[in-house]
Amino acid sequence: MTTRHYLDHAATTPPRAVALEAYVRAAGLANASSLHADGRAARSALEGAREEIAALVDAAPAEVVFTSGGTEADNLGVLGAARSRLAAGLPTRVLVSAAEHHSVLDAAEQAGREGARVVVLPVTPDGALSVPALRAALAASPGAVGDDAGGAPDAGTRSVPGEGLVVAAMLANNEIGTLTDLPPLAALVSAAGGHLHADAVQAAGHVPLSFADSGAASMSLSGHKFGAPMGIGALLVRRDASLVPLGFGGGQERDLRSGSVDVPGAVAMAAALREACEESAAESARLARLRDTLVAGIRTAVPDARLLGPPLEEGGDRLPGLANLVFPGRVGESMITLLDVAGISCSTGSACTAGVAEASHVAIALGESREDAGSVLRFSLGRTSTEEDVAAVVRAVPEVAARARRSGVTGSRLRPGR
Ligand code: PLP
Repeated sequence: MTTRHYLDHAATTPPRAVALEAYVRAAGLANASSLHADGRAARSALEGAREEIAALVDAAPAEVVFTSGGTEADNLGVLGAARSRLAAGLPTRVLVSAAEHHSVLDAAEQAGREGARVVVLPVTPDGALSVPALRAALAASPGAVGDDAGGAPDAGTRSVPGEGLVVAAMLANNEIGTLTDLPPLAALVSAAGGHLHADAVQAAGHVPLSFADSGAASMSLSGHKFGAPMGIGALLVRRDASLVPLGFGGGQERDLRSGSVDVPGAVAMAAALREACEESAAESARLARLRDTLVAGIRTAVPDARLLGPPLEEGGDRLPGLANLVFPGRVGESMITLLDVAGISCSTGSACTAGVAEASHVAIALGESREDAGSVLRFSLGRTSTEEDVAAVVRAVPEVAARARRSGVTGSRLRPGR
């Protein structure tokens, strides 16, 4: 049997033993909303998990709203904020960076169908939403007046009562790993009276995270990206944020997310995040070394392969365990299949929505041609990754790249990026 090499930790990472143990211990608990002693025991476990998660991401416990995962948290942060403004009768704009996850882009699109004006903002060559891009968009707003891009972060806008403004900027990009410096963006959004939603799904447990310092009004987390089981996440919501729920029922979770809370999931998420945060400094350094070896090995084996996102040489603004490369002239989907046969699990640049590979909208946002955006591979490393995993990719990739060459089958094979 072929040994498997799993390089798809950004899609999901295996659950941690501490998380599974915590899950099993909490699995027999009652409903946390029940008033009897059994319910109170479940409530106490739930509140313990909330406090622990809050402490680990520098938020207040009351700011942690449990959800089913990152998608629901992003939907609530973006669409919930837009709907609250639309419901107040405000002309509402939703500004999103072009590199956001579909759980943000599609929530913005839905806000558009409900009456908001949606503007997709360009990203820098590294893939981050930049202060000048946001400033220019705000200056074009009916709710703000522009300044030149050289001013202080809050000098370019003034809020005009009467506009509802929601901005989404992700902390860590899931396809290329770019980290965005949120506080300067948050200062601009706040000066314009808007709500900043930050997707921190790929950041939590991997890089230091402070909700308080980020300046965001809401921030999404997903447990299975740092070693909790799938199906649990959270939206961090500042107490002064204006959001409306997307679902209706028992009014749990500050009336923002009805439904019996997944107490075992919450407890497992807290245990996983604690361990991920404890390990993250040493693990980041180890993963960054593995990633650099991987990228160098691929570049030597396939000289025309190009890394997307911030250059490694400059260090810094990227997730340690993620590398996304364009292999010009090859079909990404074919490469995935050939690597799979060689025992290697990785993904195309785009999220494989329901198992369908699409040209990466992030690569397109970076200025890649549609054809090259269909020729990207994402390798993502995690705590089970080893030098042997990296070596297996480097060994396999020359033949895979040679066999996956397009043979006149180009654009027609690519579905449009969503
Ligand atoms: N946001 C980002 C950046 C992601 O990478 C993902 C998952 O891939 C999500 C949101 C959605 O998270 P979940 O799978 O928990 O719904």
